[in-house]
Amino acid sequence: MTQRTVLVIFGTRPEAIKLFPVVRALADQPALRVRTCVTAQHRGLLDQVLAIADLAPDIDLDLMEPGQTLDRLTARLLTGLGEVMDAERPDLVVVQGDTATAMAGALAAYYRKLPVAHVEAGLRSGDIYHPWPEEVNRRIVAPIATWHFAPTDTAAEALRRETIDPAAIHVTGNTVIDALLWTQGRIAADPMLAAGLDPIADRLAGRRLVLVTTHRRENFGDGMGAIARAIGRIADREDVALLFPMHPNPSVGSVMDAMLGERGNVWRIPPLDYPHFVRALELCDIVLTDSGGVQEEAPALGKPVLVMRETTERPEGVAAGTARLVGTDENRIVSEVFTLLDNSGAYAAMARAHNPFGDGQAATRIARIIADAGRA
Ligand code: UDP
Repeated sequence: MTQRTVLVIFGTRPEAIKLFPVVRALADQPALRVRTCVTAQHRGLLDQVLAIADLAPDIDLDLMEPGQTLDRLTARLLTGLGEVMDAERPDLVVVQGDTATAMAGALAAYYRKLPVAHVEAGLRSGDIYHPWPEEVNRRIVAPIATWHFAPTDTAAEALRRETIDPAAIHVTGNTVIDALLWTQGRIAADPMLAAGLDPIADRLAGRRLVLVTTHRRENFGDGMGAIARAIGRIADREDVALLFPMHPNPSVGSVMDAMLGERGNVWRIPPLDYPHFVRALELCDIVLTDSGGVQEEAPALGKPVLVMRETTERPEGVAAGTARLVGTDENRIVSEVFTLLDNSGAYAAMARAHNPFGDGQAATRIARIIADAGRA
């Protein structure tokens, strides 16, 4: 049997988390030969996931440069990925989500008339500046892709509205749930994997734990300042501790350093590897985030998630009642957190486990569809 070569491309932490289950599922298909290429758009964060998922990329472009502009990054990605495609001669290319890597990977494939599979297709906020530049990145992939793997019906509907052929849209669930469940299984089998968080659990001493992450570009500047002030006011309460794994982007750290300083109950720590982050999600009472992936994981664990954004392309968490948009208004963030801390009814209403984003089988579905397409 002639195998078809699938080139899977990714560059950032969330892409690696959402694609490692896909790489494994594709590798289980005898008709496919899988090659992986990382651009290392986020070097350190990406490597943490590769290590946990036991994934050694076949090609590593290592394109990370300190302080690189979006123009320069995009130009280097397009050229670098095009050269990889010329050398590897894949039969199809897989990209995920809405990063510069996904957009440039799809475009380089299009220039070579290679079919593209888009994992996590159809997310739309409707506003090209929220999130920026991700909303346009993912819209650019849509007309290029041959297979659109939509995580939910809402995402599939968004693609149909853009006149994507319905036969090319497959609702698979989000592969982040596959990654989450796999990682929980690994932690259950080997608790040492996430044991680094035990001291945090011990230090809680009855306090409620708020898990904070923030990294969105559109929140840099005023938004980040408001988030820092809100964290400071939440930390004024003695019954609360905040665990804040800091994204390495200096636009986050500099504001937090200047505005928060050192506080005994704000635990600012380096980014956690995935098993430790999953453990932090399990431990916490409330999640305060502007992350996309965290909005999908928190509902699966029944953790109320307050989303520090004005819009979301993941309305399913809001519809299920586990997520609420709070924007970057300082007073709103503080009052929503305090309501959850002080009103057990409000807390219970949000803290119900739902899985609107998938059942953990998304990667298997995706791999089967790609393998079956070759048999036609
Ligand atoms: N995450 C992690 N360690 C951390 C913070 C987040 O492993 O310290 C994971 C998280 O579980 C989620 C993903 O990283 O799966 C989200 O990445 P990020 O927020 O950077 O990107 P986004 O999802 O907003 O694109």
